[in-house]
Amino acid sequence: MNKTGRTLRLHNSLKNQKEDFQPLSEAVRVYSCGPTVYDHIHIGNLRGFIAADMLRRALTVNGYQVEQVMNFTDVDDKTIGRARQMHPDQEPLRALKRLTSEYSDIFLAEMEAIGNATEALSFVNATDSLASIQDLITSLYEAGFAYLADDGIYFSIHAYQNSGKTYGRLVTVDAANTGQARIAHDEYDKNTACDFALWKIGQEGEPAWEFRLGNRDMTGRPGWHIECSAMSTAQLGQPFDIHTGGVDLMFPHHENEIAQSTAGQSVGQSGEYARYFMHNEHLLVENQKMAKSKDNFVTLPDIENRGVDPLAFRLLVLQAHYRSQINFTWDSLDAAQRFLSDIRRFADMQFQPVAGAGVIDVQTPAEQIKTALADDMDTPAAIAALSQVVDATAAIPPGQVREFQQFITFLDGALGLDLGLRGDITDKQKTQIQRRQEARAQQDYDTADAIRDELAGQGIHLRDTPRGVMWHRLTRR
Ligand SMILES: [Zn+2]
Repeated sequence: MNKTGRTLRLHNSLKNQKEDFQPLSEAVRVYSCGPTVYDHIHIGNLRGFIAADMLRRALTVNGYQVEQVMNFTDVDDKTIGRARQMHPDQEPLRALKRLTSEYSDIFLAEMEAIGNATEALSFVNATDSLASIQDLITSLYEAGFAYLADDGIYFSIHAYQNSGKTYGRLVTVDAANTGQARIAHDEYDKNTACDFALWKIGQEGEPAWEFRLGNRDMTGRPGWHIECSAMSTAQLGQPFDIHTGGVDLMFPHHENEIAQSTAGQSVGQSGEYARYFMHNEHLLVENQKMAKSKDNFVTLPDIENRGVDPLAFRLLVLQAHYRSQINFTWDSLDAAQRFLSDIRRFADMQFQPVAGAGVIDVQTPAEQIKTALADDMDTPAAIAALSQVVDATAAIPPGQVREFQQFITFLDGALGLDLGLRGDITDKQKTQIQRRQEARAQQDYDTADAIRDELAGQGIHLRDTPRGVMWHRLTRR
């Protein structure tokens, strides 16, 4: 089914173990829970989106085709609240659209900045998916899994369990306390089963969509959980292969998605929602969970304002396994930035081959990286293989430039470090390097230093090595 014949091993939260990955069809269908577009997201969220991006890369470099969908949650409690706060004078739906389109654009720019390939994803907005959301709610209602209340439409955990299904596929929920409590909020902590809102009747000042159900006017807006159930299935069919998200989404969000999407479905494969659920761990800042109230809420602009490349953050994330917590510190980010500079210096060797340089081996690290990614996305092992070849390579012999460039292209596909954007220096800069060499030969160090400083001002750094002067760029391109 895939070209290399390599079987991936993936940790499946549904079984809480690593399993051989068996795709349902030729193209692997992946749904990744996307951002709620109401504000800057924090770097812990970005970590999750790097994991989703790396899953596609792990599959792709190992020979699979991938169809990946990500949603924008552009209507829920948070987006509505913030839209009202930001644009109080505007009509509710207009205010919502204005807020969410602004933060969707910011999100896409941040994804690109951290090396996530947005062109490889299909994005879908909840507000563009109202028909499929309402269809799903209607069928749940008609099959007896949803009921009408004064403030909206609720999913009945009791009816679900009575049909022989398990509520609690991803987490252990308190089965003794089911079918009683009802919760209108999109997010709730307790691991008890609550009937949750599929749809909320419109409140004053909230955007609302017409909806009639059971002969009643239910005009209002969808709950958060139903959005992902409807959008994933509309885009990918059911069952699809892999569902991704952060561990904080396991409950209630993913548990509720499974319930909504499997209620009334026959047992067996067709009664599955997604075959594999993959969850990334949290990122802590200075050993603490991030919170806006705690002053440790770090966003990508905070990183950029300190002069650190967003790709250094990617590298930091890749150095940890997606199922391990990361403790983010500014020191660890600085170390990642230095490592990124080493990798860029390595990549820039393609433009300055050295006659007589020893033969380099890029096949072994390429195989090691593919193998590591196939093993439940073991990015630390992949990065270790990269680090080893970076450290071991002093120069590229002219006869291996093409092979080296293919390796750089492979690295970009596998790890997303954007090394392919790098180019040669200009003829003028090459002449300057030559002039500096001549000045040094004549012991005119003032001129030599002035030229070195001038090039540094253009982002070109020089190193005098036993093989002659080598340059490298610190920046992305
Ligand atoms: Zn979701």
